[in-house]
Amino acid sequence: MTPVKAHHFPGGYPVVDGQLTISGQSAADLVHSHGSPLFVYDRALMSAKLAATRAALPAEVELHYAMKANPHPDVVAHLVQIADGLDIASGGELAIALAAGADAATISFAGPGKRQTEMDAGIVAGVLFNVESVTEIERLQARAAALGCSARVAVRVNPAFEMRGAGMRMGGRPQPFGIDEADVPAALMLLAAAPFSFEGFHVYLGSQTLSAEAVVEAQTKTLALLARLSALSPAPPQLLNIGGGFGIPYFPGDLPLDIQAVGRGLSAALQTYRPQLKGARIVLELGRYLVGEAGVYLTRIIDRKVSYGETFLVTDGGLHHQLAASGNFGQVLRRNYPVALASQMSQNRTYLETVTVVGCLCTPLDRLAERYLLPVSEVGDVVAVFQAGAYGATASPAGFLSHPAVVELVV
Ligand SMILES: *Cc1c(COP(=O)(O)O)cnc(C)c1O
Repeated sequence: MTPVKAHHFPGGYPVVDGQLTISGQSAADLVHSHGSPLFVYDRALMSAKLAATRAALPAEVELHYAMKANPHPDVVAHLVQIADGLDIASGGELAIALAAGADAATISFAGPGKRQTEMDAGIVAGVLFNVESVTEIERLQARAAALGCSARVAVRVNPAFEMRGAGMRMGGRPQPFGIDEADVPAALMLLAAAPFSFEGFHVYLGSQTLSAEAVVEAQTKTLALLARLSALSPAPPQLLNIGGGFGIPYFPGDLPLDIQAVGRGLSAALQTYRPQLKGARIVLELGRYLVGEAGVYLTRIIDRKVSYGETFLVTDGGLHHQLAASGNFGQVLRRNYPVALASQMSQNRTYLETVTVVGCLCTPLDRLAERYLLPVSEVGDVVAVFQAGAYGATASPAGFLSHPAVVELVV
């Protein structure tokens, strides 16, 4: 295997005297003050990403934050301030969202298998339910009746088409998510007979797409579908959540999503379908795209060893915090996330070596970087794993091997 050079250090992390800095503090100081391993999330980078996204998209498009990407309360509180709403997928996320000051009127609640207690909490708070099946409509109706309330409902549609190039597909094939396109007319009739306020539709096709062409194609097909379904609705849809799935570059060769091209394509599609969509608001729900690049995972080297000629840097972190970097979260072939030695960012002046960075767990799966070219390091140095702001701490098996919980810091 040939060694892999560092790639995709996201912008916004200045290097000062060779040291990686995050929001004006060196990574080494952050670890010194807050401990290792440590996730650091930078609010200013989230704001900048959101602003750039707004600037590229048609002005009328509303941007929601999909909380499951990073549900840290301070991250959510920040996104509540700057985004137009939140998308939640559990009662736990609802509690975090409300505690973070979110207005329930701007929260939508998707996800299969909503429990009775979650439905009750959502109905009482007044969130919009994206219903995922016909039987969920019936269960929601029963809960609304029991509570003596109405419920706000949008229908999540599982279209007959997919989003090309998505890292994870969540539509266009048999899925636990959404109501199959062909079954939507019957579901709409059921809704019309129930004491619900019907507010619109939701389509979410998948995650981690880097192709603007694929995104635009999916958005255009989605708007065409929703224009057809709007004609069958019990009331004119007020809100059309057309999903997201915008990706960020992780691996060598990945190119960032061309957001300007997405904006142009969406603008053209809206022009075509606006007459049929009437005054419905258009919402995109973005998770990873808004926060993924705004997070860094810092972990200290606690041992160095050579085994049969391969140099291992053994860190105090691992897949129990950052499963995705180990290649075990939806990847088929393991590829390296971008990593760096936080204290020696200026590689040209330094001697480089090929190392494999591992975590401290007793499993061969626990690899943060394989055969990676890094400056020569010592025990005590800090390794930075970039693109760690989404699907990190809460998407990792924290209980595996019973190590202490990771510290998360929002700066
Ligand atoms: C996971 C999820 C999102 C967020 O996906 P990202 O790839 O992080 O943008 C948005 N909407 C729904 C319905 C989801 O399940």
